[in-house]
Amino acid sequence: MTRDPRVLVIGAGPSGIATAIALRAAGISDYLVVEKGDDVGGTWRENTYPGCGCDVPSHWYSYSFDPNPFWSRFYSPQPEILRYFRASARRHGVYDQIRFGVRVTGARWDATAHRWLVDTTDGRYTASVLAAAPGPLHEPTTPTLPGLKRFTGTAFHSARWNHDHDLTGRRVAVIGTGASAIQFVPEIVSKVAELHVFQRTPSWVLPKLDFPIPLAARMLFQRAPITERAVRFGIYAAHEAIGVAFRHERLMRRVQRLARLHLYAQVRSPELRAALTPRFTLGCKRILISNDYYPALSRPHVRVHPAAASVTPHAVVGTDGEAAEVDTVIFGTGFEVASPPVARYVFDGDGRSLASHWEGRPPSAYLGTTLAGFPNLFVFLGPNIAPGHASVLSTIEAQARYVADAVGAMARNGWTALRVRPEVHRRYNEAVASALEPTVYNAGGCTSYYLDGSGHNVANWPWSVARLSANLRFRSDDYEVSDRVRSPVEEVRA
Ligand SMILES: Cc1cc2nc3c(=O)[nH]c(=O)nc-3n(C[C@H](O)[C@H](O)[C@H](O)COP(=O)(O)OP(=O)(O)OC[C@H]3O[C@@H](n4cnc5c(N)ncnc54)[C@H](O)[C@@H]3O)c2cc1C
Repeated sequence: MTRDPRVLVIGAGPSGIATAIALRAAGISDYLVVEKGDDVGGTWRENTYPGCGCDVPSHWYSYSFDPNPFWSRFYSPQPEILRYFRASARRHGVYDQIRFGVRVTGARWDATAHRWLVDTTDGRYTASVLAAAPGPLHEPTTPTLPGLKRFTGTAFHSARWNHDHDLTGRRVAVIGTGASAIQFVPEIVSKVAELHVFQRTPSWVLPKLDFPIPLAARMLFQRAPITERAVRFGIYAAHEAIGVAFRHERLMRRVQRLARLHLYAQVRSPELRAALTPRFTLGCKRILISNDYYPALSRPHVRVHPAAASVTPHAVVGTDGEAAEVDTVIFGTGFEVASPPVARYVFDGDGRSLASHWEGRPPSAYLGTTLAGFPNLFVFLGPNIAPGHASVLSTIEAQARYVADAVGAMARNGWTALRVRPEVHRRYNEAVASALEPTVYNAGGCTSYYLDGSGHNVANWPWSVARLSANLRFRSDDYEVSDRVRSPVEEVRA
């Protein structure tokens, strides 16, 4: 395998695989994927906690070009999702162009050679185009709680689940009540002797319309693929309809009644209900779905505490000063979103990191994909490209196609550098910021990982998925293009 491909892709998660497939489909075979893990799958390789699965129906949480008629459930579990991405990568010949066990540690734009110089644990690679797909929810975060280092029991993050640690009969503290905790709490509740859930802010929980897909339906999907397409379209259309409420905070308050009803139907204790009732509008934080989370919290050996404040050698202490004696702490505290590692290891032609470009102002990109000052760099799931109501795969596919179209245009026209025009970048981000104002993410009255420290929304796409697919089309007019000036030696050779 080459060390100087035309395109170097960082990461072999759903985004990296989709990029490789899109490049191949566009006739560009000169690419290489570097992946620090030992297999494809990204999120679905890393997260193996009990109950891990997607919270978007599987027929939509899959590539549109690679439908899977065999999903076992409406919302499939992690092992099945991982098998899907592996199979998809295999079917499209992606494995042959991945170097596993290679971590990118630094990448710098060479403004003279018009190439990216990419440092890895396997030495230097160079590439004309860098497609960074290291995952938006990849680096686990653990709060810096005083005393944590002195805890004598076992502590781990949900994304690094300790499968050797049997939870049977244990006294367990769960810190964090986000999308992962809501999935593993019901799975471990029957095993443990005591469960102490430390909750900073409660989230709205909607019922999960999950069921096994009957064999007859799976066979129908396989024999008549149009039926599977129809199901996928139905799921998409239903989510787009909910998306309208995301854009109108007042409308969302009506939908919120369903979540309140769900809470009242499942939680009898008025104190627990009060503790679990959010004080923001549904959708302001990521919407959680579960049928068994509230019943789990209602069990007699489970206690819901306010946020964890500190840890002693044998206990977790809440902000109310009450200590819960435990022998295991599980962090369901999510991932590093606000300051992604990639921003610290990607440098422009002057040696300035992306993080330093973003310092003092909200992270921004053009169409969540290209960045002023960073030619030939495409980032996956960058700022403001994730609609809160959709499968992230819709974004990923659109971005992968964008990269392939851009690389194709470069090859056809002999361009060696593409720079997004600063005015295009600025106008686009002004439109995004103004469209976000009335959305539930901004107007819903919460602080979430969608917002940065200054309250600026750096995560969400404010419009529909249809608009995202339509807008994410490569237009060369949005870019300043250049041909590299040839060196005298090259000039002579030419
Ligand atoms: C538990 C969980 C559940 C989720 N459920 C849903 C869901 O239901 N619906 C939804 O739409 N989204 C969901 N998401 C979001 C999810 O992250 C995306 O759906 C998807 O996995 C993003 O794909 P990706 O390829 O961009 O990133 P990832 O899947 O995170 O893959 C990134 C890959 O890059 C590699 N990598 C990272 N850094 C480097 C480096 N420096 N060098 C080399 N390789 C590197 C990683 O090892 C990894 O394999 C979920 C996320 C989590 C964590």
